Amino acid sequence: MSSPVPPGGTIGILGGGQLARMLSLSAARLGLKTHVYCDKAEAPGFEVATAHTLAAYTDTEALARFAGACDAVTYEFENVPAETAAFVASRVALRPNERALALTQDRLLEKNFIASLGLKTPQFLAVATAEDAAQVQGPSVLKTRRFGYDGKGQAMVATAAEAVTAFEKLGGVPCIAERFVDFAYEASIIAARGSDGSFAAYDPPHNVHRNHILHRSTVPSPLSAEAAENALHIARSIGEGLDYIGVFAVELFVGKDGTLIVNEIAPRVHNSGHWTMDACLVSQFEQHIRAVAGWTLGNPARHSDAVMQNLIGEEAADWQALSQNGGALHLYGKRDIRPGRKMGHVNWITPKG
Ligand code: AMP
Repeated sequence: MSSPVPPGGTIGILGGGQLARMLSLSAARLGLKTHVYCDKAEAPGFEVATAHTLAAYTDTEALARFAGACDAVTYEFENVPAETAAFVASRVALRPNERALALTQDRLLEKNFIASLGLKTPQFLAVATAEDAAQVQGPSVLKTRRFGYDGKGQAMVATAAEAVTAFEKLGGVPCIAERFVDFAYEASIIAARGSDGSFAAYDPPHNVHRNHILHRSTVPSPLSAEAAENALHIARSIGEGLDYIGVFAVELFVGKDGTLIVNEIAPRVHNSGHWTMDACLVSQFEQHIRAVAGWTLGNPARHSDAVMQNLIGEEAADWQALSQNGGALHLYGKRDIRPGRKMGHVNWITPKG
């Protein structure tokens, strides 16, 4: 184990969205500097990081300078190109590791990995050709293997014929067909693994989506004690299986009988963990920075019940009213409001029930 990055050291972050912004704010509170690398000039993370690099993810000169300026590097989105991750990892500690990135950016590799741990996933089938699509049986969700998010790159299909049409509409790119799960509700578990192999998890929230985008996360969730134990087992198995360092999230479908089915793994802090900023002493952002810096993990205990609601598009327009609604307002500094764009969130907390 390498020695921890001391206060004053620099954590590099590949990706400059709101997650980089909130990671940077947490790092600053610990006396750590951040260097955000992003290919978009208006990256919300640039505004609050100690330093930033605006360059393409394929620019090896810029990446070399960035790696040279950082004591450890992490990423805040799973579509960082594999070559970028490999280049950075050859120069400075990359946490989480390249394998975690490779597995979670491809839905087929990810599902095979989850199944190999003996954990439940929806039944799935690799769809590389129209002939494969014709093998789809029963109501399913056809998803592109790569680059899907918030319901993008996926289609609900009821029959094999619909699967063939949807496969063509998705551009004939490699896909996975998952059997539709008639779940009771969705939940997630946000957990962390330290560089010493230690493990810490937050209470699993109950998640409600609108138009395929997370709308609300609530803790405590209605999960039974047994299901919550199972969620911990799932997170621990995945963390160990990936030899993971940092915070990650596991999105879960909760069956009507309480069974937990793994939907996907996010190798980063997660939207359904934003409530930890106000309901825990150590938020998911601080926890991730601690892990990446090689510090001991903080206490993930929740001191309050919480509801987190996303502000999508126009919902963030009336920031004056949102400032007075009794919640803690978090805005990401995005200049243009666009439909479907995550602009901020509000956390409401109440004494733990
Ligand atoms: P994903 O991008 O895989 O997280 O999917 C986005 C959302 O689509 C999920 O949060 C679910 O609401 C829904 N969904 C995805 N896969 C399935 C499935 N196999 N069965 C039922 N609903 C699904």
